[in-house]
Amino acid sequence: MQTTEPYPDGSGEADAPARVVIDRSDSLARWRFVCPNGHADWDPTNNHLWCATCAALHGVDPEYWELLDKKTGETVPWAAVVLR
Ligand SMILES: [Zn+2]
Repeated sequence: MQTTEPYPDGSGEADAPARVVIDRSDSLARWRFVCPNGHADWDPTNNHLWCATCAALHGVDPEYWELLDKKTGETVPWAAVVLR
């Protein structure tokens, strides 16, 4: 029996993505984490995010499963995002 497993799903520390906590009342955080096309005007929906600016620009339902961290230039999988 394992006693030191840090993750309840058993995936282990090496496989688990780092959690990214986003405080959506913090305007700096809102502008740091943007949709893959660089917009801050997204909203969380069922297990993913939806970008209002992409919808206005392209007339489609812009659904994404990752955010772009403009500070690091890397994408953050939605599964790792924790909204405050
Ligand atoms: Zn967008």
